[in-house]
Amino acid sequence: MAKSNDLSTSCVHTGEQSGLHGSPHTPIYNSTTFLFKSTSDILDVVEGRKAGSLYTRYGLNPSIISLEEKLAAIEGAEASLVFSSGMAAESAVFFALCRKGVLCLGDVYGGTQELITHQLPVLGIKTSFLLKSELGQLEAELKKGFGVVFFETPTNPAMDLFDITGVSKLAHQYGALVVVDNTFATPVNQLPLSLGADLVVHSATKYLGGHSDITAGTVMGSKKLIGEIWPWRKNLGQMIAPETAALLSRSLKTLSVRVKAQNESAMTIAKEISKHSKIKRVLYPGLESNPDYHLAKSQMTGFGGMMTLELKGDRAATSSFVDKLKIFGLAPSLGGPESLVNQPALLTHYGLGEEERSRRGISDSMVRLSIGLESVKDLLEDLIQALE
Ligand code: PLP
Repeated sequence: MAKSNDLSTSCVHTGEQSGLHGSPHTPIYNSTTFLFKSTSDILDVVEGRKAGSLYTRYGLNPSIISLEEKLAAIEGAEASLVFSSGMAAESAVFFALCRKGVLCLGDVYGGTQELITHQLPVLGIKTSFLLKSELGQLEAELKKGFGVVFFETPTNPAMDLFDITGVSKLAHQYGALVVVDNTFATPVNQLPLSLGADLVVHSATKYLGGHSDITAGTVMGSKKLIGEIWPWRKNLGQMIAPETAALLSRSLKTLSVRVKAQNESAMTIAKEISKHSKIKRVLYPGLESNPDYHLAKSQMTGFGGMMTLELKGDRAATSSFVDKLKIFGLAPSLGGPESLVNQPALLTHYGLGEEERSRRGISDSMVRLSIGLESVKDLLEDLIQALE
């Protein structure tokens, strides 16, 4: 197929290899290894003169190669690598590129926070954190010298935004690479590489997989950086199974329609629910009342399916609201077809402890919602019956 710059077309067509029988998508190659006619043929692939399949753990398998072409195209990247989980993708990036240290901005997923706080320092990697409220110190911190600046935007659960272009310009002045976790926004709503970031990572377990049935991760960026990460994935053995790769390729075909529907429902719910007398505030980048609204408009084309409600009530009243929901399921994940709810202070951010949560503005009465693909009318009715 001719190349298209349109994300929806890339989601459907890019990377697909029809195989012998004209299948409209790449068949699943569950082979662990691939046969060659001669030693010179195998050497051509091993020594990089010819593209080809060789060994699945290396990623040299048609199901994986086809998926990586699609992932790179939808994020506007030269190349991508797929991994067995989002954490596998992040850890490979850190191992490959963080000799000079990691500077982490804002709230990040708990596993990322743990990896940067506890595991990287054991390997002698310098790490540092700045909250959004401390961003005035960014330049002073960068002067200390870091290999990578890492952040999520929007963040979890406060839905804070970071200025991708501004942070990237400053980080580059001080020789640091910028890695953005684009899991919440998805490439449908935000393209960090086009805004100046060097690498994008995703937990593909979330919107890219989109059906709560795949654990996977990915990194996208220039051929040069992806080439530096490749041997780490190979030798840490972080490869995704070909069957999972095929499921992820299948899911990506509907990424654009799923995310656009979730954007629309989330916007309706954010607007309607913010009028309710029992709601203190709704944290959603698409609301004009959001302090980051103008930044959101400048770097996002849609505002996503994630939002956080803050209730007028204590921890117990908030838990009682969560427990009364009938359609929203109580679970820590996000990005699937089913709407999910979680009270961060008691689930995803419990491990931070009360003092750290309060320093980060994560209150007991916050409830994070992942808006799924159900009818928006049913979702609103569910929220309202639980509030009342
Ligand atoms: N990044 C974000 C924003 C996440 O929410 C998560 C998991 O919840 C991860 C990374 C880690 O992804 P995985 O669970 O696929 O390893």
